[in-house]
Amino acid sequence: MADKILAKDKIPEFLQRLMSKFTVVAPMERKDAPAEFKELSPGDKPILDGSRMMMPPKDYLLPRYEVLLRVRQTGGETKIESMIPEDKPRVMLGVWLPDAQAIQVLDRVFLEEPFKDPYYAARRENTMIVAVIPAEMRWSWFCGSTDDVETWKPNVDAIMYDLGDRFYVEVTSERGESIVEGLADPTEEDIAAKNGLWERFKTHNILPFADEKLYNRLEWDNSVWEEIAAKCVACGMCSYMCPSCSCFDIQDEVCGTCVERYRCRDTCQFEDFTLMGAGHNPRSEQLPRSRQRLMHKFKYQHEQFGVVGCTGCGRCVELCPVNVDIREVLCRVCAGNQPEPVSK
Ligand code: SF4
Ligand code: SF4
Repeated sequence: MADKILAKDKIPEFLQRLMSKFTVVAPMERKDAPAEFKELSPGDKPILDGSRMMMPPKDYLLPRYEVLLRVRQTGGETKIESMIPEDKPRVMLGVWLPDAQAIQVLDRVFLEEPFKDPYYAARRENTMIVAVIPAEMRWSWFCGSTDDVETWKPNVDAIMYDLGDRFYVEVTSERGESIVEGLADPTEEDIAAKNGLWERFKTHNILPFADEKLYNRLEWDNSVWEEIAAKCVACGMCSYMCPSCSCFDIQDEVCGTCVERYRCRDTCQFEDFTLMGAGHNPRSEQLPRSRQRLMHKFKYQHEQFGVVGCTGCGRCVELCPVNVDIREVLCRVCAGNQPEPVSK
């Protein structure tokens, strides 16, 4: 598989060529909110360099709100309209590599039989992922501390390394070849710059728990859960913005002459998430909810699917309103729960 160079001033032509073959999905700027992944229209100027905080790509594959089916009654007849999206060839561009790995976690949840989700599958199965490694590292990232990031590469179709005025496009799958047709070959200098950027990404913020098997270290009765629970205001931000969190709720709503069944985001951080019909709630306090979030990401998902449920994207670190810092919690757990501040 031959790597290529995409000069940034050639991006409009590149997009035009891609859009003639695929539906192209990429992050687009919004006025008062972080960029979000959208299907591009001709002339759109997406953010492809991963340089800014953005909504995770799961928002496209697993929308925050989605009508699953509509039930109508006309003339005594009941009709059920399925809202499964169109399955068409797509390319997702500008997916920061850790977010692309988070899609692997979602795939385990939504594509594995016998509980394959037809809504997610219609958007995902025919979609190529082109990941990006930005030129600058953010202070909150700790990707190389959560997993061996080398193992993430084969899970995408290509990776674009931001080298300033150009992207180095590393093709990592056979179908990824179709994306780079017509692009220039890299020079020795390009290859060296790409290798340097990869090394910076790989070694950025390597924390004391990096080589630990966290699934063996997280304990049910560690006192750190109590400390998090005492601070947490259960806003749900850490799960809603997490690229790999997948929990949802399903509700029915009357809309004029029909009933819509919709799916919307939910989180284990909310009190009523585990509330049962008969009134019992096994996680009625914040402590088990705080514990669940981390145990699920680092232990249960590893046991269930063999993947780590956190890719070190740092969104929860940056956005938690009371500064619950997952990096600090993991450092503490691995240091026998001794305070071990994380430098920012
Ligand atoms: S750093 Fe936080 S938001 Fe990012 S993947 Fe890990 S748990 Fe999710
Ligand atoms: S973002 Fe912070 S306060 Fe909000 S639920 Fe998560 S840990 Fe709790």
